[in-house]
Amino acid sequence: MQNINNNNSTDSSFQWVTIYKAENTLEANIVKGLIQTAGIECKIKGEMLQGALGEIPYDQAQVSVQVYAIKERHARQILVNYQQVKQSAPDWVCPNCNEHNGSTFDFCWSCETLKND
Ligand SMILES: [Zn+2]
Repeated sequence: MQNINNNNSTDSSFQWVTIYKAENTLEANIVKGLIQTAGIECKIKGEMLQGALGEIPYDQAQVSVQVYAIKERHARQILVNYQQVKQSAPDWVCPNCNEHNGSTFDFCWSCETLKND
């Protein structure tokens, strides 16, 4: 049993922690969607920098997905599942509109064409 005191405003449980460094904004949004589906509040850090890629150092352009520290363990469990799916299924290109889709999408995010294996 754990007695958590949420009245403490300096509680580190409510600091944002990075749980995933995405390759790009698209992947960051996939991860964000998975985490939010599980009812965990999350945000993307660095998304705005993507538009300026090429003008700034690469490491500053990287997109991070962040959750509250108190949710970190739960979110990481979701990511384990995501990364297993990602490894077993490659990204795919929509045959209808040629949009690039992450492996976790069953439908094209752009035109909603069903993924065709
Ligand atoms: Zn499409």
